[in-house]
Amino acid sequence: MKLAIRVWVMAGVIAVSGSTLTAQQAAAPQQHKWALLLHGGAGVIQRATMDPKTEAAYRASIKQAAEAAAKVLDSGGSSVDAVEAAIQILEDDPLFNAGRGAVVTADGKNELDAAIMDGATLKAGAVAGVTRTRHPISLARAVMEKSPHVMLIGAGADAFAAGVGLEQVDPSFFFTERRWQSLVKQLKNEGRPIPPRPAGAPPEPVSEIEPIEPADAHKYGTVGVVALDRQGNVSAGTSTGGTQAKRWGRVGDSPIIGAGTFASNHSCAVSGTGVGEYFIRLTVAREVCALVEYKGMPLQAAADQVIHKELEALKGDGGLIAITPDGQMAWSFNTPGMYRARMREGAKLEIGIYNDEP
Ligand code: ASP
Repeated sequence: MKLAIRVWVMAGVIAVSGSTLTAQQAAAPQQHKWALLLHGGAGVIQRATMDPKTEAAYRASIKQAAEAAAKVLDSGGSSVDAVEAAIQILEDDPLFNAGRGAVVTADGKNELDAAIMDGATLKAGAVAGVTRTRHPISLARAVMEKSPHVMLIGAGADAFAAGVGLEQVDPSFFFTERRWQSLVKQLKNEGRPIPPRPAGAPPEPVSEIEPIEPADAHKYGTVGVVALDRQGNVSAGTSTGGTQAKRWGRVGDSPIIGAGTFASNHSCAVSGTGVGEYFIRLTVAREVCALVEYKGMPLQAAADQVIHKELEALKGDGGLIAITPDGQMAWSFNTPGMYRARMREGAKLEIGIYNDEP
């Protein structure tokens, strides 16, 4: 028997619309190979100033998060599920500037931003200035799936999270001594007032703790994941504490759909990291996907054009990860380093940190 059917083939080339297939072929539709990329922030991350223990800790954590996403995708899960699973792990890891371990605002608080977008439906959810929800990425997802809105902020976002049963924590949950001392150092250097130590924070240690990285390394440090699932759908998610010593109420690019986060099955999925003020004005994530969609550019060329030409022309810095429904994968950054990983079904996980790595 011949069936008229539309099918997507594995390499991602959209094929045959209305062509004929045998019943056997139709019964075993070809699947996409899943793939994913992850970033843990771009910045002044250099071999010369990175100690081996810290580097190993970053690599281990990136591996754990990427493997969590891979597990979801490998069992046929959706790209949205994979993005959320990996980002939750990174949010809980104080090494990264997202969730616990987020950088601190100039007045001594952790204010968290996150977004997620489903390329299959163009649905999106975003939150900004969250202070009580343990996993901002899951809150962004709840906004996408359980509210008629795209973006919620501040106390309203946390109240919504509590209402849909997402774990709430005391704001001091996000506090880490290293981020606090890094804030104090920056404020002192800039001659700005030092805010009081936040309520609920542990007592100040007697001796100064060792900074986890050089002073400037992680002024940025957002986490992001983009994924392609076996159904051929791409998604993107980003989560961050924003930029260190930001003004309270400041919102960066990460939760702005089209700036730090974007996904569409018509083009690509992107998560960015860098100085949000530039990414917002360039609508970086959407710009990459627009170049792919309207100019037919290969993904890597589109990513490089936005980071190395458009972002640099504005004197901005940062990087991004991106993926297309046909399985192209790209990263691009103009900083000395970007914590990053990529993995494709059936292939090895690759992790990179410095700009001299592939
Ligand atoms: N893009 C983030 C922001 O500006 C910071 C980062 O990527 O590290 O909020």
